[in-house]
Amino acid sequence: MTDHETLAHLMEAADVRQYDCYQCGKCSGGCPMADAMDLKPRGVMRCAQTGSLNGILNSNTIWLCTGCYACVDRCPHDVNVPALIEESRYEAMRRGIKRRDSDVLNKTLVNNIKTFGRNHEMLLAGMYNVFAMKPIQDIESVPHMMKKGLINPMPQPIHGASEVAELIERAKRWDDPKVFGPGENRVKDEKPPPSDDPEVEL
Ligand code: SF4
Ligand code: SF4
Repeated sequence: MTDHETLAHLMEAADVRQYDCYQCGKCSGGCPMADAMDLKPRGVMRCAQTGSLNGILNSNTIWLCTGCYACVDRCPHDVNVPALIEESRYEAMRRGIKRRDSDVLNKTLVNNIKTFGRNHEMLLAGMYNVFAMKPIQDIESVPHMMKKGLINPMPQPIHGASEVAELIERAKRWDDPKVFGPGENRVKDEKPPPSDDPEVEL
């Protein structure tokens, strides 16, 4: 499949069309992550219009978008930029494109939740700093946060943490980018990969 065809599939899955966007920039103006993005939401749409799939896939935007939908709310044409970003993130994963710090943060967060049934902020921050090679990032705020009881050095697992871990494993199989091709919609198609797991009671 050519990049042009792949981009067309991603846009179709996101229900976004090139001609929907008239480059007004209101999405970028309201995006809370825009300052950290190397390609603003308007730029994502510009790449889509010009057929630059690589411009989207190699941006940090696809890893930084929080899916808050502020851009959609502000868009006079309701262009669903985050849906296109999400489809592009899956395509980047299929191609093995990663950002080290985002990858470390995601894996540490998921492992935390699998182990304790919820996130443990101090462990997340510590592991992230170590693996992202930023050992002293935000270290100055630790004493203050501990004094105020905002962070707890000891993880407190929840009751039923193993069931949460089981759910995460199932979700990973459902959301495996290798299982779904470009533009195949995981939600609309409602065809989860086969699983032998028992139903998990919540
Ligand atoms: S707000 Fe909508 S129309 Fe304006 S640049 Fe963003 S996506 Fe395009
Ligand atoms: S959904 Fe993503 S691109 Fe849109 S405003 Fe939120 S962070 Fe920005």
